[in-house]
Amino acid sequence: MKIIKTVREMQEYSDSLRREGKEIAFVPTMGYLHEGHLNLMREGKKRRDCLVISIYVNPTQFAPGEDLEKYPRDFEGDERLAQDVGVDVIFYPSDREIYPDGFQTYVNVEKVSKNLCGLSRPIFFRGVATVCNKLFNIVKPHVTVFGEKDFQQLVVIKRMVADLNMGIEVVGMPTTREPDGLAMSSRNAYLKEGERESALSLSRSLKLAKELYEDGERSASGIIKKAREHIENQPHTKIDYVKICDTATMEDVEIMEKESVLALAVWVGFPRLIDNYVFGESSNIAG
Ligand code: AMP
Repeated sequence: MKIIKTVREMQEYSDSLRREGKEIAFVPTMGYLHEGHLNLMREGKKRRDCLVISIYVNPTQFAPGEDLEKYPRDFEGDERLAQDVGVDVIFYPSDREIYPDGFQTYVNVEKVSKNLCGLSRPIFFRGVATVCNKLFNIVKPHVTVFGEKDFQQLVVIKRMVADLNMGIEVVGMPTTREPDGLAMSSRNAYLKEGERESALSLSRSLKLAKELYEDGERSASGIIKKAREHIENQPHTKIDYVKICDTATMEDVEIMEKESVLALAVWVGFPRLIDNYVFGESSNIAG
């Protein structure tokens, strides 16, 4: 497994692979790897000849006061896990390498970035789209694998890749969960003892919503009300949003006719956790 820290070396390596006729799968991450990340990597490994991952905590997607400095990091642990799943290259750049002096170009994916996390984190998707565009130009992948756990992010990336003719296949993978249903996240490391139980209210409210939908409920506000009540009944929780959106436009829906997603963002103690359920899908929400 190679560890590459500079843009130039990564681009040269990808060019050399492409000259040999090899195809590249790419999984961007912010590190502190868990089984959810590893499942994306296993999928990438299956799909192409060479698997590149990036580990980079991208400062442009964090607003002042968010957890950029506190974000959990463990490069040595990540290296071991990556090696075990057969990663070929870890791209591990510094901030200066990604944002050198004079940097001033950003990518805005307009409509699908507006709702949900775009409301509470106004610069978030600009940062995500910009860094992913840069990483795609550096790693030059044929396919990239993202998690459906960050549902809106996946929609934003697919839109950007299509709109800017990047010619990269974007694959979404189902959310990997703990046995009790909690969606895996690097930010779960922030949860204190009592908060861990309260964090289950996210996946449990999704399960509740799924059951209501299966019983024929199609009113978004009816489902949202029940999901909110369930979350609010747990200690340590503070809701950022509970919304039901059209999966194509990410706009709120009232009557669920087309494919729609219930998306949640909730602070549980310090961390703000997200989760979602696409109605009508067979799901792995346990607990
Ligand atoms: P992050 O390191 O949190 O930026 O995530 C990197 C990638 O892993 C993104 O595509 C996420 O959607 C994906 N991911 C994070 N958590 C999970 C999970 N529990 N299941 C599936 N994918 C995940």
